[in-house]
Amino acid sequence: MENKEQLIEKAEQTFYKTYNRFPVVFHHGKGVYLYDNENREYLDFGAGIAVMALGYGDKEYTQALKDQADQLLHVSNLFYNQPSIEAGEKLLRVSEMDRVFFTNSGTEAIEGALKIAIRYAYNKTGNHDHQIIAMKNSFHGRSLGALSVTGNDHYQEPFRPLLPGIVFAEFNNLDSVKALVNNKTCAILMETVQGEGGIYPATEEFIKGVRKLCDENNMLLILDEIQCGMGRTGEMFAWQGYGVKPDVMTVAKALGNGVPIGAFLACGEAAKAMVPGDHGTTYGGNPFVTAAASKVLDIFKERNITSHVKEVGEYLHEKLGALAEKYPAVKECRGKGLIQGLELNTAAGPVVSKALLEERLVLISAGANVIRFVPPLVIEKSHVDLMIERLENIFEKMSLSSETDMV
Ligand SMILES: *Cc1c(COP(=O)(O)O)cnc(C)c1O
Repeated sequence: MENKEQLIEKAEQTFYKTYNRFPVVFHHGKGVYLYDNENREYLDFGAGIAVMALGYGDKEYTQALKDQADQLLHVSNLFYNQPSIEAGEKLLRVSEMDRVFFTNSGTEAIEGALKIAIRYAYNKTGNHDHQIIAMKNSFHGRSLGALSVTGNDHYQEPFRPLLPGIVFAEFNNLDSVKALVNNKTCAILMETVQGEGGIYPATEEFIKGVRKLCDENNMLLILDEIQCGMGRTGEMFAWQGYGVKPDVMTVAKALGNGVPIGAFLACGEAAKAMVPGDHGTTYGGNPFVTAAASKVLDIFKERNITSHVKEVGEYLHEKLGALAEKYPAVKECRGKGLIQGLELNTAAGPVVSKALLEERLVLISAGANVIRFVPPLVIEKSHVDLMIERLENIFEKMSLSSETDMV
């Protein structure tokens, strides 16, 4: 096998340069550990960006993939296939929605949700002058529609003009949303817990206020659960912990536990807004990826993943809270279940990089100053202890314990 340096050199000559990658070549995974091509073991608190909910190499899950690969991979949406029907039924049951459309990614799920909103408004008014309210500091994906509702100037600037009729309110500031509502507003879109933006859960007051605003003005509430959904907060979907229900929601990341699948779901009027011909996909919901999602949903139920997340999530929150007490460079700990963030008074990038290369601990950042913790949902408290130990080693090495090094 080629060595690490040769592989990285080839990669840099091959791929379109849109990423700055860490200099590690991963080879395989087992449980909550990843192994590089020199067989060094890494504790994984990133889960491939909140994807690998069941960890690596789960026997029951991989067997389902192998069986489906032998049977049927793809037929297109011109025909029916059983795995997609089963996955769809299961997803509707846990999401309390009426209809589902399977996509290949999160960004495509957002595209579908936006098309529902626009179609819904067009059905009502017969005109094309609509407005959608999205949130500042949000992230919804990289395709042009999703980018249009992503409240991040840095990502948007090189690609303008984007979709018209998008305005941005401040997350967790109900007055800022109210100030933007007018008779053209057809939908409000937000993450239930802002992920990439730095792990900000919606406050109960805010999300309930937005729901009420939508009801009063005949607007759709669209919740992006791509990162915070699928058990990560300790609820199957984060909104279920607030006592509000969206009209439209998006899922992806952990839905396939590593195979590319997302979905947009809708209930009530929103579930009828689009008609045959309005939307489609070649791969979306093919038997292979839906067999995976179907097995993921079975395993969530059988192993009661959400209650495990509640328990370990509380433990993680306690431990991170203690770091915030101990280290002046740690500003605060935020999050729910197994989506937590540690905001630093300094850049998170160097911490994440040192953790990976010197402590064999996979962490990811969110925003400039936040370390994000989105481990496989099957981690145990002992893994939390090990992670904290390694993270403290880094804090000590970087002298983050002393006030003088604060930025
Ligand atoms: C990751 C993410 C997306 C985009 O998903 P992709 O599969 O990368 O297209 C959208 N919304 C949220 C909240 C995400 O975290």
